Amino acid sequence: MEKKYIPHAEVPVVEHCNLNCDLCNCHSNLIDKSYYPLEQFIKDIDNLSKHVHFGFMTFMGGEPLLCENLDKYISYARDKKMAEIYRVLSNGLLYKRLSPQLMDTIDVLEISHYPEMKDSEKVISDYLKPLSKKHNFTYYIKSIGYFNEIDTISISEGEAQQGYHNCRRIVDGCCIFNGYYYKCMRPKTTNLYLEKRHGIKLDKDLRITDGVKISACDFRSRLEAYISDTKMMDSCKYCLMGLEHDVSFVTRMKHLALQRPYLIRTFYKNHILYHSFKKIKSLVQFDEGAHSSDKGLITTSIHTAGKKY
Ligand code: SF4
Ligand code: SF4
Repeated sequence: MEKKYIPHAEVPVVEHCNLNCDLCNCHSNLIDKSYYPLEQFIKDIDNLSKHVHFGFMTFMGGEPLLCENLDKYISYARDKKMAEIYRVLSNGLLYKRLSPQLMDTIDVLEISHYPEMKDSEKVISDYLKPLSKKHNFTYYIKSIGYFNEIDTISISEGEAQQGYHNCRRIVDGCCIFNGYYYKCMRPKTTNLYLEKRHGIKLDKDLRITDGVKISACDFRSRLEAYISDTKMMDSCKYCLMGLEHDVSFVTRMKHLALQRPYLIRTFYKNHILYHSFKKIKSLVQFDEGAHSSDKGLITTSIHTAGKKY
């Protein structure tokens, strides 16, 4: 049977992080330590490689450079020709720990540069430039000045279904983790978020009910049914990702103004709220395009458990 093409797969090799960002979309700020075991990843790739082919595979976290044998995950996927491009998405705190083996296996390294980084983007870039030539990979450093808040416990079923219907995540890609294929990364931590943040205990484990078990003997038919299902997952009831279209341009700009007041001037004229933008190009892009809120101001800190790493 012909393999199914999926443009993008996210692979959280570790769930924990050495940063502790308030509005972490991956809920890494709630997780002490958790790995996607290499043995399980190998089993998953063995099964997946019979059925799907990815455009990009993004090895991420939490913080993927906390995974000491990250190169082995990528090499294995590469040997199995799972994808066209192999990318690592890191917060960059450990950029000096990139091993030659790891750099040899990746095509792209993307660094999210957060305010907590003591090294400037230029310092990191100067370090990476010669290495990227030597080991033949491309790197990007993206300045992150805010987070989109996507956690919620307050949307209706109708809104959640609408969000699922709109959600780019399920068109573009998937997440594979610990024996399961998911439409996005949310099912693996939604129970945890609800319990830890709100004391809500669901009667279902969404890590099981919102995904497809990769080792299932009828995996391919389950996968087809799962991908084409027009009904939302339970995880969507706690996620604002797909409701991005409901957030107006003005709201987004207001959000930016709150964070970078020196860039944006807001004024009223004839009952209309205007915003004038200066140096707008230096603002970070709305890459995920999700719902933004006034609470979305970036707050990061070195993880309290960071010393362990
Ligand atoms: S750097 Fe921040 S947003 Fe990224 S995974 Fe770590 S805690 Fe989450
Ligand atoms: S709305 Fe959220 S939980 Fe639902 S598919 Fe999109 S990202 Fe995943």
